[in-house]
Amino acid sequence: MKKLLPLMVVGILVLSGLGAVALEIKTEPQTLLDELDQFQDVMTENAEVPIGHVAIPDNPISVQVAQSFIPTLPILTRLELFIGKNSTATYDLNVAIRDDLTGDDLTLIIIDPSAVPTETYDWVSIDFDDIPVTAGQTHYIVTYTENETDNFYAWGCNNESDSYVDGCAWFSLDDGGTWDNRSAASKPSNIYVKPRYGGTPIFDEYPTWDTCFRTYGKENAAPSTPDISGPTSGEVGTSYDYTFVSEDTNGDPVYYKINWGDGDVVEWFGPFDSEDPQTRGHTWDNPGEYTISIKAKDIWGEESSWGTLKVSMTKNRALNTRFLRFMQNYPHIFSILQRLLKY
Ligand code: CA
Repeated sequence: MKKLLPLMVVGILVLSGLGAVALEIKTEPQTLLDELDQFQDVMTENAEVPIGHVAIPDNPISVQVAQSFIPTLPILTRLELFIGKNSTATYDLNVAIRDDLTGDDLTLIIIDPSAVPTETYDWVSIDFDDIPVTAGQTHYIVTYTENETDNFYAWGCNNESDSYVDGCAWFSLDDGGTWDNRSAASKPSNIYVKPRYGGTPIFDEYPTWDTCFRTYGKENAAPSTPDISGPTSGEVGTSYDYTFVSEDTNGDPVYYKINWGDGDVVEWFGPFDSEDPQTRGHTWDNPGEYTISIKAKDIWGEESSWGTLKVSMTKNRALNTRFLRFMQNYPHIFSILQRLLKY
């Protein structure tokens, strides 16, 4: 949505886990066009994970953390994460959205450390240009920072198994190369679940961890069936202009695809503003009845129905006249033709 939201201070937790209490965080009413889609916004006591460098003696590690979720809305507009940072964190926090943990970023947002509270947790709004997602399919919020000494952030979590049923927290200790989730409860890599700076790794028996996150999204509607206007009859060999226009309910830019009905298809072109008429010319080579079909799709890929216009093309009278005149001027050719054809 690219709108600045005030940070919502919901409580103070000590990053190392001291004095932490379970929090119930209320969602502020939204005046924006998007709406809250997926969320897990209860942090349980001491349930926190580091993002970045964790200085475990003789075994410093760099942790990347992800949260899987299943959007119900087809356009993702922004996120809120309940995060904090170590006082020595000076590197940016990178937040990516992916539909595959080791795949490409659908979007990547770079967060300046100053936007994240120090040695406490807070909801941090992470805004970006709206992106299309596949409703009903698992996506990931992936967070990481540079692997530098004492440079880490922390993400408040919930370690109750039913806190968010459509996803869970994922962790990578090899800069995003491989990932596993908290369900794999007996692996040594569980040290990242409860870092104790310099202390002994603590293993946790809970099967599922979820981070504190909120995703926002919005619905999308297909553009209207294009209206087509232009001459409905004409002659072959002459180019005629046709004007077409589609309106997108969301005001999204639209692409068009044209089938001229004679085998000539113009693949998707655009985008153009919604309700901005476009004109293209076409010439039919053979007489006959044709149906011009034009379809629109918005920038999210949502397609309209085909708009149609029937046109009738007749023989080109000028050409016929020219041919007749030619025959009249050269009657001997006509007779040769007659003989050749055994007329
Ligand atoms: Ca639309």
